[in-house]
Amino acid sequence: MTSASARRARGSDNSIRPTLLKTGLGAGLLTLALTACQQQPEPIGRAHQFSGPTMGTRYRIKVVMDEASSQQLYDIEKASTTALENVNAKMSNYLEDSEVSGINAAVGNEPFPVSSDTLEVLQHALEISSTTMGAFDITVAPLVDAWGFGPPGRAPEPPDKQEIDRILERTGWEMLRVDRASSSVTKDRSDLSLDLSAIAKGYAVDQVADALDALGIDNYMIEVGGEVRTKGLNEQDEPWRIGIERPMPGGDQAIELIVPMSNSSMATSGDYRNYYEIDGERISHTIDPRSGYPITHSVASVTVVGPLCVRADAYATALLVLGPEGFDLAEELGLAAYFLQRDKENVFVGRMTTAFKQILESGESIQID
Ligand code: ADP
Ligand code: MG
Repeated sequence: MTSASARRARGSDNSIRPTLLKTGLGAGLLTLALTACQQQPEPIGRAHQFSGPTMGTRYRIKVVMDEASSQQLYDIEKASTTALENVNAKMSNYLEDSEVSGINAAVGNEPFPVSSDTLEVLQHALEISSTTMGAFDITVAPLVDAWGFGPPGRAPEPPDKQEIDRILERTGWEMLRVDRASSSVTKDRSDLSLDLSAIAKGYAVDQVADALDALGIDNYMIEVGGEVRTKGLNEQDEPWRIGIERPMPGGDQAIELIVPMSNSSMATSGDYRNYYEIDGERISHTIDPRSGYPITHSVASVTVVGPLCVRADAYATALLVLGPEGFDLAEELGLAAYFLQRDKENVFVGRMTTAFKQILESGESIQID
């Protein structure tokens, strides 16, 4: 990226021309491509980066410190990877011995004891199911599997209407109950099955943030698979600048918009990264739990900014499910959200809620949600 294009990309209105990043990196890495290519040379020794695989994707952490001993850097990396491994070990439905797999396998409707981490995620999930009228629903697991996006992988044929109707009988967030006092969950049906893919990455980001806070780190950016949380300032002593991606043909990446962030999280859900096609029709990994079918409307992505990454992550998925009507709900809930929609000519049009506009105008993320 040239410094001229970097300057363009750093504008804060949505009229900027997209800047191509021919990096070939995945969605989650766009944010880092942006922060890494700002104009100023990095002051040596102030910014430190860590990255690696986690939760079927990658994490990237950047900390800015005036002085850091190698012991401190070791502690930061260790605390971060421990937090990520903890969340994955509890919430993955790809690991047979995870807590989520235990809940899924449990037979009968006795309370199933869970850790405080899993309890917290389930509570956020159920609350967001309620505020989004079931658009967010972690009991979609059998639908996700049927459409070929779960642990069993893709079936030779997509499910037919009869199969979807059968599966819908055993989905529904209201059949899952969480009891805080006993730290347990109860399934109304034994065959209720959970998928935390749309919320666990956000929670993992929050957990890493807590770990860095405990180590006294004041300036950081944490990213797991495109979900981001920031604190303090970047190495230029400015708010972190996090990019929202505009999908381009052939998988190229362009920047739609840069959001200044200091103490907040950003999560994006899109229909363009994880999908396959049948007869030219896009089969998205985001499922509308009300119909049992993948989403088909014109909204390509929804980005949500808020204090907690766990909630931003879930809301981004929920609003993407709701599509254009999700915009009104986001306004009603006071969420800072950015909708990227395809118009009739297949040109992208961005729309932002009032709270999102305020973030751009104030030059720094404010606390919402
Ligand atoms: P990504 O994983 O690409 O960041 P999301 O956060 O939007 O994207 O999560 C999508 C995943 O969440 C799907 O692959 C599926 O496992 C699960 N999922 C799909 N539809 C829903 C839904 N309506 N509510 C909750 N989880 C969903
Ligand atoms: Mg999500």
